[in-house]
Amino acid sequence: MSFSLHGIPVSRGIAIGRAYLIAPAALDVDHYLVEPHQIEGELERFRAALKAVQTELERLNEDLAADAPSEVGAFIHVHTMILNDAMLVQETMDLVRTRRYNVEWALTEQLERLSRHFDDIEDEYLRERKADIQQVVERILKALAGAPCAASLVGDAATGQASEEMIVVAHDISPADMLQFKTQTFQGFVTDLGGRTSHTAIVARSLGIPAAVGVQHASALIRQDDLIIVDGDHGIVIVDPAPIVLEEYTYRQSEKLLEQKKLQRLKFSPTQTLCGHKIALCANIELPEDARAAVDAGAVGVGLFRTEFLFMNQKGGLPEEEEQFAAYRQAVELMGGLPVTIRTIDVGADKPLDAMSGDGYETAPNPALGLRAIRWSLSEPQMFLTQLRAILRASAYGQVRILVPMLAHAQEIDQTLDLIHEAKRQLDEAGLTYDPGVRIGAMIEIPAAAIALPLFLKRLDFLSIGTNDLIQYTLAIDRADNSVAHLYDPLHPAVLHLIAFTLREAKRVGVPVSICGEMAGDPQLTRLLLGMGLTEFSMHPSQLLEVKQEILRADLRALEKPVADVLAAFEPGELQAALKRVAEV
Ligand code: PEP
Ligand code: MG
Repeated sequence: MSFSLHGIPVSRGIAIGRAYLIAPAALDVDHYLVEPHQIEGELERFRAALKAVQTELERLNEDLAADAPSEVGAFIHVHTMILNDAMLVQETMDLVRTRRYNVEWALTEQLERLSRHFDDIEDEYLRERKADIQQVVERILKALAGAPCAASLVGDAATGQASEEMIVVAHDISPADMLQFKTQTFQGFVTDLGGRTSHTAIVARSLGIPAAVGVQHASALIRQDDLIIVDGDHGIVIVDPAPIVLEEYTYRQSEKLLEQKKLQRLKFSPTQTLCGHKIALCANIELPEDARAAVDAGAVGVGLFRTEFLFMNQKGGLPEEEEQFAAYRQAVELMGGLPVTIRTIDVGADKPLDAMSGDGYETAPNPALGLRAIRWSLSEPQMFLTQLRAILRASAYGQVRILVPMLAHAQEIDQTLDLIHEAKRQLDEAGLTYDPGVRIGAMIEIPAAAIALPLFLKRLDFLSIGTNDLIQYTLAIDRADNSVAHLYDPLHPAVLHLIAFTLREAKRVGVPVSICGEMAGDPQLTRLLLGMGLTEFSMHPSQLLEVKQEILRADLRALEKPVADVLAAFEPGELQAALKRVAEV
């Protein structure tokens, strides 16, 4: 039966393919497809893990104290029975054989299926056995973690096989998991949760494939292998489309591809307005190799390198200085002399790190207002110094700028500058080279920072407005929470005034300022931002040409009056009318 679901559009375009459902538990384990010749090896791994757990349970039973409560023995007995149950073991093996899932994935998938059955059981005692199955599965997963894998996630993705034409559907995907999809060839993404500028959405957008988030209950309503259409422009997901609908979307998809091809013509033309003002278009990257896409799209630099992604999916703790240095240097070298703005680690809120556990982070009542970004870095000075030394060392290989996230207080800026100074001193002592004139800038993403701008203008070399967080903190809307996503409004007068003020004041004293939040990559806002005085935009490479097209068509003088009207408007009706005039000039 055909039906449609509505969510938040986060990455434009149309994807048509088969649903590839990822169960929540499966997100904690690797999921990849094994080659046909690896299936037997994969099953062997599973058998070995089952045997290890069996031995573990037997040992537990033997070690039971004579006076242990009888429930403990019964509990071990139940777990042993589950371990040998065909519903768990045989079905998991079948998933490995028929779908070629790696065993961890097959196991968590089967757990998910069994859990659904259990939820329907009326008998409370039986329903609670679900927890026992979960515990047994966890034991097996632990045993598997000690055994070598038949293939790796990246290894399979490199072949680009079998995942073609597939659209990922999940309840939620963490930014770290989304990052792993960078090496896969999926056609689109749909998640039940998420907001327009959640980091999951940002990474999905950077993949340049259509995505919709906040599509409530999508993962429950869509079944594995269902044919689905994702309309990333409108946030619509159509399940099992009627032939005529499928035909219409296939046509639209080809039209879009054609438009994109046409845009390629703009790649080599200089970026300037109709009236001849030069505008710098830079790229946002998450991994050093993304710099290739930045150069390909014609970016004149990296305006934001989100280094925290290097710290994610790290099994053995935080990356060492050498590893970080190699990554930063790679990005700098790939940019071939163009500036690379490396932002110091911005973890916390919707990007927690394993390394943060123990800091009370898990129990923080409001992580977005807690130990995040520079606050965490200043609380971990050795970690921060390691990162600063690695960035500084990369500055010997090209033009590097250091960008610091989430600053609000004068003492935070001063402490950060002192630590940069200390990192330089340590490098001098070790005889390692760096650019002594490396420029240091701040993200303006807390309203307090924008309002107290003179603190920043006096101390820093450049500014970059992080509109994603600026909107979140100005409007008190969690950017990752789809239940308040309708209130997340880049065009709220308060947001526009903070941006306009920052641009105007920085320009007045000659401090360069850019915007690297998602607003910079939205072609519908390009004219407005130009009219507000923005001359440097930073966005995902996939958005660059569309924004460039808008810039080439814009006349700054003609924009002056309508943009002034936008800033003077507070009532929604007036604001809409003024915005319409901005779009029409
Ligand atoms: C922002 O807040 O606008 C920004 C660019 O940083 P991030 O999205 O990584 O928080
Ligand atoms: Mg931010």
